[in-house]
Amino acid sequence: MLFKTLTKKDFRSLVEIILQSNEVIGPKKSGTNKDGNPIHKFLPVAKFEEIDLGYQTTEFSPKTYFLPYKENLSTYRFENGEWEQDIRYRIQPRAIIGMHACDINALLKLDKVMARDKFPSPYYVSRRRNTFIVGIDHEPAEKCFCQSVGADTVTHGFDLFLTDLGDRYFVAINSDRGFNALAKVDAKLVTEKDSHDYLAVRAKIQNSFKTKVRIDNLPNLLDIEFESDMWKKWGNKCLSCGSCAMVCPTCYCYGVAEHVSMDFTKGQKVKQLHSCNLVDFAEVAGGHNFRPTRSSRLKYRYYHQHRGFVEAYDEPKCVGCNRCGTVCLAGINPPEVIADLQAEGHGP
Ligand code: SF4
Ligand code: SF4
Repeated sequence: MLFKTLTKKDFRSLVEIILQSNEVIGPKKSGTNKDGNPIHKFLPVAKFEEIDLGYQTTEFSPKTYFLPYKENLSTYRFENGEWEQDIRYRIQPRAIIGMHACDINALLKLDKVMARDKFPSPYYVSRRRNTFIVGIDHEPAEKCFCQSVGADTVTHGFDLFLTDLGDRYFVAINSDRGFNALAKVDAKLVTEKDSHDYLAVRAKIQNSFKTKVRIDNLPNLLDIEFESDMWKKWGNKCLSCGSCAMVCPTCYCYGVAEHVSMDFTKGQKVKQLHSCNLVDFAEVAGGHNFRPTRSSRLKYRYYHQHRGFVEAYDEPKCVGCNRCGTVCLAGINPPEVIADLQAEGHGP
């Protein structure tokens, strides 16, 4: 990895250059919550001033720009005994400015499933390849536990990554695209003072995590406590609304529906994100539901995050952003659910 520094004025010039030939997405203030705190969303921006890099977290993750909630996979038509299919991959250049390390780590996990596994999704891959990513360091939100799941730092999966040193940014460069973009502005070589200041900022961030979650023993513990009553305790609160999966940066389960015209001459295949907490998630033809209870569905959500994904990819699926805990109207959140599970593991 190469490092340079960039004054804040030069960073602004860089974003303005990027804006000339890319659709740019960034964290924008979109309102305030009931406590008067700002709400931020990743939205298209037209000028630099609209981007607020000081945001703590966003309600929805930038996942939606790689895995949209709903997308048309193909449109087809039948005519004179022949058929034609129209498939469009997104190839327009896009830049996302201001992604946090946890959200970039989430993309790296999605890459494993959607880009590198046996059946890569060309829809996902085309969006990933055509997106220029500028990440930024930040002090953690109170309930964020990304450090506990190893997602508080990131070494790849982005083009540029910024750390705020006050009057300038310390910039990690991780791609040719990032290097070439920086060449258009007055990026400076790193001095000893820059490195020293950078390490001091990183140490401050690392020491500011308030929420810690023990996950190292979860794959075994989840098997041992498969029948534990704690799943009923939490499952009985669940409203089966599916909001947790919608805001989660790593949830990728989906369904495909085929919409055929009444005269059978044309149709569309549409992909839509699904959620393992929805009542019909495990329902099969004939009406049998393999997970008919709220507790069984909630339990399998945690199984996928901390056991199934670990078995497949040697790491948990969760990046510790706690968006699911924030959005959940029933108050179900990973730190408390996992603490209960850990307490069960210690026995009476
Ligand atoms: S855990 Fe919370 S957000 Fe998720 S489905 Fe249940 S009630 Fe909805
Ligand atoms: S499960 Fe919750 S805490 Fe973990 S990545 Fe998804 S939204 Fe974030």
